[in-house]
Amino acid sequence: MAYDNLTRPADAGPETAEQLAQRLDAELRHVHPREVLKAAVKFFDGRLAVVSSFGAESAVLLHMLSEVKPDTPVLFLDTGMLFGQTLDYRKSLAARLGLTDVRDLRPHYQDLATGDPDAKLWQKDTDACCHIRKVLPLDRAIEGFEAWVTGRKRFHGGDRLRLPVVEFTDGKVKFNPLANWQKADLDAYAAEHDLPAHPLVAQGFPSIGCWPCTQPVEAGEDVRAGRWKGQDKTECGIHVARAPGAVANVGGDI
Ligand code: SF4
Repeated sequence: MAYDNLTRPADAGPETAEQLAQRLDAELRHVHPREVLKAAVKFFDGRLAVVSSFGAESAVLLHMLSEVKPDTPVLFLDTGMLFGQTLDYRKSLAARLGLTDVRDLRPHYQDLATGDPDAKLWQKDTDACCHIRKVLPLDRAIEGFEAWVTGRKRFHGGDRLRLPVVEFTDGKVKFNPLANWQKADLDAYAAEHDLPAHPLVAQGFPSIGCWPCTQPVEAGEDVRAGRWKGQDKTECGIHVARAPGAVANVGGDI
């Protein structure tokens, strides 16, 4: 089904953002991810951002975005702890795909000066480190948008097993176009469109975040097994819904 066919009775009356998210989730549940992106642009153009880590699987969603609306703002969290290969990949992939509004989000100087002056917070408290370097910068940047798009997939496991295609959290509509896709779907799409891989994938990193908290995985391990290895932490906190006024301090990647 194409997004143009989304159904809604003409006399249905005004709809809240939450109701819209529920309706879109039901109607877009089984469509191609590109159609989910088109629907996101159709309903939220000018009020929509895509959040990307420019990590191991990011090229697929970014390529679809380049086909649907390449000037959509793309928010990239440059934590100050990323691999040099990720920074290079962010530049080359954005240029190759013609994405014209990639925004680099960095932690505030003041937050670092008070909370992580020696850049070693990750050794003591990874939740607090992610809060300063990921959650706060994204919270500040996302404030100006009503909806955002993520690259999360159910096959990554954990809390993502129940991921809807469209959801409503923290006052915003979130689109997860790749929720239904498996690794084989991503690989086939990347091959079909000749998309360049993140250089660390060939070195055994199927999921890539900050260098202190990312390790290669062994054969047979989960995709995200190399993230915060040896800790209970599986998410960085940017996707954790919080109560009004609460501070997100639990952790993953984008
Ligand atoms: Fe800090 Fe590690 Fe979180 Fe990066 S992933 S912000 S280094 S704790």
